[in-house]
Amino acid sequence: MPDRINVAVLGSTGSIGTNALSVLRELEQFRLYGISGHSNIELLRTQAEEFSPEYVVVTGDEKSLADRDTFGGNWRVGCEHLDALASNPNVQIVVASIVGQAGLSSALAAANSGKRLALANKEALVVAGEMLTTLARRSGAELIPIDSEHSAIWQAALAGKRPEIRQIILTASGGPFHGLSEQQLQEVTVERALAHPNWSMGQKITIDSATLLNKALEIVEAKWLFGLEPDQIRVLVHPQSIIHSMVEFADGSVVAQLGSPDMKLPIQYALTYPERVGGPAERMDWSRTWQLDLIPPNAIQAAALELGFEVCRQGGTAGAVLNAANEVAVSAFLQNKISFAKIVPACREILEQHQLVTSPNYDQLMVADNWAREEMNKWICS
Ligand code: NAD
Ligand code: MG
Repeated sequence: MPDRINVAVLGSTGSIGTNALSVLRELEQFRLYGISGHSNIELLRTQAEEFSPEYVVVTGDEKSLADRDTFGGNWRVGCEHLDALASNPNVQIVVASIVGQAGLSSALAAANSGKRLALANKEALVVAGEMLTTLARRSGAELIPIDSEHSAIWQAALAGKRPEIRQIILTASGGPFHGLSEQQLQEVTVERALAHPNWSMGQKITIDSATLLNKALEIVEAKWLFGLEPDQIRVLVHPQSIIHSMVEFADGSVVAQLGSPDMKLPIQYALTYPERVGGPAERMDWSRTWQLDLIPPNAIQAAALELGFEVCRQGGTAGAVLNAANEVAVSAFLQNKISFAKIVPACREILEQHQLVTSPNYDQLMVADNWAREEMNKWICS
């Protein structure tokens, strides 16, 4: 092993990406080897100046490439460079923090090349969980979750052996609209949906948290990460976001992981596992009184979660379809093209119409993804 561990942060300009850099800034055993960004070139430039990485990858559109003649000699333009960076032999850890299906190819490249894949991009597991976990197993890659709930389960699971896990309990903040009626959800604005009570995150996951489709995606993520059956996964609403998730073992003992709602902690743990070191994550204030509620989901929330369970049961191309339909719906909601309350029903309809392919290859997953995008676009225009 080299003196310092080389880390590539894909999606370094996003919420997880900038938090990852905050962690790396404090931990001198790691070196930032490569970064990537899609559109915020100014931030990418600032990061490149501060960390002097070997590679800077820009994947964005023409607008973000307008001043490409000012890019440094170590800058690369184009998505194919993401895969090259993710499989670069000098890189030991890939932090996959691109949002959506766009992060799949580079996550697969990292899994295929035997690295530690610190995975924030849950959509990669939703779309191609079987492929990603199989590649990781074959290459010896370590797949370590950054998603706070899954990091919590990873940590809690260390209290026993994997076959001793009876069920896991994923906690959900419930988002800003916990308890609102169907009628009230019709009137939700983009501004209100983007105001998450506990976490500061990118736009897509913030909307996913409000619809609870984030938790549906996390159900699928948990299935693949921990090899669970759908009936071993339970969701409870926990508005304080302090208990990040729990594992119930065969004997009835429940082990939870708690902490401030600060993504720097699960990011750091994915980098340093199995070790723990001091770092920049916010700490719990034990001098105050904490109330920790655990509430079963209501009917509206359960309907969104059911899509995740359905994808677990179906397997195959179902995850690609749910994910793509949701990506298009969220983007349409952010542009005021569909109402908030329509996102979940529209995703359900498209999942129901889909012709399942049970053991898809990569191309078949992309066909399913494209089909779902087109169907959702038609749904929105109808
Ligand atoms: P974000 O929108 O803040 O950042 C996304 C990053 O991906 C940016 O660096 C952006 O430049 C890049 N990107 C966007 N589109 C791209 C494309 N087409 N090709 C290549 N790169 C592209 O998102 P985020 O909140 O940081 O979330 C990133 C991932 O982490 C998501 O999968 C999300 O579900 C997951 N996650 C986020 C949080 C959180 O607290 N933000 C928590 C758990 C999991
Ligand atoms: Mg989460």
